[in-house]
Amino acid sequence: MSGMQSELAILDAHCHIDLYDDHRTVVAMAEQMHIHTIAVTNAPSVFFYTRDLTQECQFVRAAAGFHPELVYSRRAELHQLWPLLESTRYIGEVGLDYVTSDHADRTFQRKVFSEIVERCASLGDKVLTIHSRRAAADVIATLGNFPGKAILHWFSGTLSQLKAAADVGCYFSVNPAMVLSASGRKLISAMPKVRVLTETDGPFVQVDSRPAEPPDTGAVVFELGRLWNIDPKEARSVVAENSRGLLAP
Ligand code: MN
Repeated sequence: MSGMQSELAILDAHCHIDLYDDHRTVVAMAEQMHIHTIAVTNAPSVFFYTRDLTQECQFVRAAAGFHPELVYSRRAELHQLWPLLESTRYIGEVGLDYVTSDHADRTFQRKVFSEIVERCASLGDKVLTIHSRRAAADVIATLGNFPGKAILHWFSGTLSQLKAAADVGCYFSVNPAMVLSASGRKLISAMPKVRVLTETDGPFVQVDSRPAEPPDTGAVVFELGRLWNIDPKEARSVVAENSRGLLAP
């Protein structure tokens, strides 16, 4: 058992496994390297593929989601989401995206996200991975005192919104693109260390001109160490401890 004890948790809190060219290779990589991976999905109709792909996995978990940019146009699928919330602990990608200025679209997104949060709150023990582009204030207000675990993925709001999110208990998952951008680094420096997790948002985020994969969370931890002014080993144990807390029921 002492061998298990010494293994530090590695987490990719937001990875679109189903959107890589070779899904099985990415799943096998995460499993072999013991990288806990939250395999987010963008619509209820595509969840089942990822669920089947990850059924035998110890480290990769399928998350049921409905991406805010798809919620309105694919609203006919919404009824498929509700039973999935009951059968999976991990929920995402969900949230709000205000890049659209369409009033009906934004209104519908808010209605759906509120209902997801409410249902997950009453079901209990849920882990949400949340998109909040240009919509951080409404996302945080909707979460309120969410009793499960809420992870703001690729957070890009203001510093005061970041503080508000931390105050209601949110985690932040940080990816290779964020640690390299000036705006991302500024936000990361303001995040409470105990709430920082790693993600790749692969295959959307690129590393060395190829899609980021779960092992690229290692480079994120290294950059976190530099930002925090601590050695990489210590950064690794901080993030591992945060990840362990998140994954524990
Ligand atoms: Mn994503």
